[in-house]
Formats: sequence, C-alpha cells, structure tokens
Amino acid sequence: LIADGGIIHHPAGGTHHGLRDRASGFCYFNDPVLGILELLDSGMDRVLYLDIDAHHGDGVQIAFADDDRVLTVSMHEEGLWPRTGTIDDVAGGMARNLPMPSGMHDDEMRYVLHEYFMPLAQKFSPQAIVLQCGCDILAEDPLSRQMLGNQAIWDVVGAMIKMAPRCLVLGGGGYNPYGVARCWSGVWAVVNEIEIPPVLTITAENILRAVKWTHSRGKQPDEKMLTSIKDPWRGGDIRDEVRTRVQRLKGYGL
Ligand SMILES: [Zn+2]
Repeated sequence: LIADGGIIHHPAGGTHHGLRDRASGFCYFNDPVLGILELLDSGMDRVLYLDIDAHHGDGVQIAFADDDRVLTVSMHEEGLWPRTGTIDDVAGGMARNLPMPSGMHDDEMRYVLHEYFMPLAQKFSPQAIVLQCGCDILAEDPLSRQMLGNQAIWDVVGAMIKMAPRCLVLGGGGYNPYGVARCWSGVWAVVNEIEIPPVLTITAENILRAVKWTHSRGKQPDEKMLTSIKDPWRGGDIRDEVRTRVQRLKGYGL
C-alpha cells in the first residue's frame, strides 16, 4: 500500500517482541519485522524503525542487527522487561537505544524528539519510516512508570510522518484501555490531519463508558478521560540524566 508513498496506520500492529522461532512478550508474529522485510523486498535500502514503546523493541533489533539497510531506534524505560537495549548497545552498528529513567514527561519527550529523533532521521534520510507507537508510556498505564500524556506522543507522530515519503504507523503496548483508545484515536487524527475536538461526542463517550476494566495496578478513569481525548500537557524540567543520555547517544552518530 505504501510502495508509491503515503501512510498506513495499523493500530493492531507493533508486536515488537516476537522472535524468529518463538513468541515473546505478548507478541506472536513480529509484524514490524515482516513489514520492514516487505519494504526491503521492494528495493528500499534505507528504512528507519522508531519505537517509543515503554519496552525495548528487542525482536526488531535482533532481526536487523546485521542489516545495514535498517536503522532501528528504541526509546524505552530502563529496568523494564526484557531488560535489554542499554545505551551502548548498537547491535551490529545499526541499532540505537535510549533507555529513559522512570517519570519521563511530555517536555522530555519533546526534547528527545527535537534533539535526537528528528536530526537522526534528517541525517539518515529514510525511504520509509516504521513507527511503533506503544502507548504504555502514558501516565495511566499500569505496566510502566512513565508520566506522559498523549499530546507528546501525537507530536512524535506528526513530526516523524513528515520525515519520509512512506510511513507505517503501528500500535504496540498499551494496558489501560481508556488511555489506549484515546491515544491511538488521536494518532489516527494526526495521520489524517483531523483536528481533535475538545469534547467527545456522546457516542464516543458512551463507548468509553461501556468499557469494564480492573487491574491490580490500574486506576479507574476520571470524568475527563471519558469525555475528552486530549490529555493536559504533562510537562516538567528536563532532567540532567536525560540530557546526558541523549548527548551520549548522539556520540554514536549514524
Ligand atoms: Zn510495551
């Protein structure tokens, strides 16, 4: 579908932990890998894979560890399963890993986007970008300790889809169903250049209200989460360790 350019949004995709010979981490087939292979088979030799899921995109990194045509970049929360993807892990040379301290917020995401993701994409000049939009980095997600709102994730999507003629925008992890529905609906809106309304229609609100969800570490949604899509900006100071890590990663160049 994107052979001649354009964008695909596949929110059910992004199963980045699947391995060649076995399922792993809730992932059976590794659809990002299969998608990238398809792009390579069609003759492309510069594909950028960018993964902002809370967990390391290990399966994709492993699949292309010795392939110069694919640059895999994963930002993830340090210390989380599968505990791989340290900052100095560049696989065969074409992987970049940015483990982030817990508590990452929207201003830090914006910093990483402008300071690292965008300049890196500009230098690499990819023929296609595969973007894994795992939203388990949202503050309300029970599996991570990140503190992001959905606006910062949409900013990443909005910026990255402009940096290549072809984009495959995927989902990924996400374990708070209200947060997932709101975030990825917003991704769809960004991809389609649709303005996000401040208040949901009653039909959309009722879909969210109909969800029943319990989780040992999950909080029930507040009214704002059920009646709107956009989170307030969850900002803060850029921590020194975040700046240091980004600068260190830049040292690895392209
Ligand atoms: Zn994840």
